[in-house]
Amino acid sequence: MINYTERISELMRDIVSRVPRLSHIDADDLLVFARYGRRGANGPVATCHCISLPPNEPGYYYWRESQSGRITRCTPWFVTRSPRVTLRGRSLSYLISFAIPRFCDQSLAGSKKARLYDGAPEWVAKLDTIVHELYHIDPGLKGIRRIQRRDGCAASASHGCAFLDQVAELVREYLATKPDPATSEFLRYGFSDLETRFGGVVGTTFRTFPSFPQRYDEALPAEMAPTLPAAVRVEPLELTTRPTEYTEDDLCVRRFLERQV
Ligand SMILES: [Zn+2]
Repeated sequence: MINYTERISELMRDIVSRVPRLSHIDADDLLVFARYGRRGANGPVATCHCISLPPNEPGYYYWRESQSGRITRCTPWFVTRSPRVTLRGRSLSYLISFAIPRFCDQSLAGSKKARLYDGAPEWVAKLDTIVHELYHIDPGLKGIRRIQRRDGCAASASHGCAFLDQVAELVREYLATKPDPATSEFLRYGFSDLETRFGGVVGTTFRTFPSFPQRYDEALPAEMAPTLPAAVRVEPLELTTRPTEYTEDDLCVRRFLERQV
């Protein structure tokens, strides 16, 4: 069977070694994992998750009375933390997930990026997605790249036209280095072709599948919280039921099917 996430990882290594503008990426600092995503259903084909962000400033959720504006209820004071994923003793900074089989069946035809790849083969849509996720990794390694608007301010959405254009430029740069076609050959096949050709598609997932590491809220000791009027009722904070620390022991290889059973 083809290990799809392993193939993507190998291709990513090749890309970052050939494209100078992505050379700040250390392939050992990221983990590629698979999520289930049905073809034709809404949802991303891939996502870049930054897990090296520091906790945010402490805060709390609160409820106000609409007329007086008075705070009536609040949660305990808390911070939002990144989960920790440690592989081979190293704490990773990024996870990149791919939705299978949806990603495998991605094509240029009818997509927003078709205009950027005139005459290119359909599978380049998948190469574009892979480069797109890598491009989200900030060169300062401080999270997800902030996209500058023309006026120099950070754009609220990180997927402006400029982002897509830059990704296409990097894809062309990579292809111009004449990489070994064997490294990206697996992208030429859709999901059912992969099944026929390799006898099945597997990918790395977390044992908690379909759940995976995500940022979580953690309550802080009450003495750290600011003083609130006695009338404000403190509601319990919804705490995560997911693990917050993961190692290689929390990973497993899972087979993906057209329809998950
Ligand atoms: Zn994106």
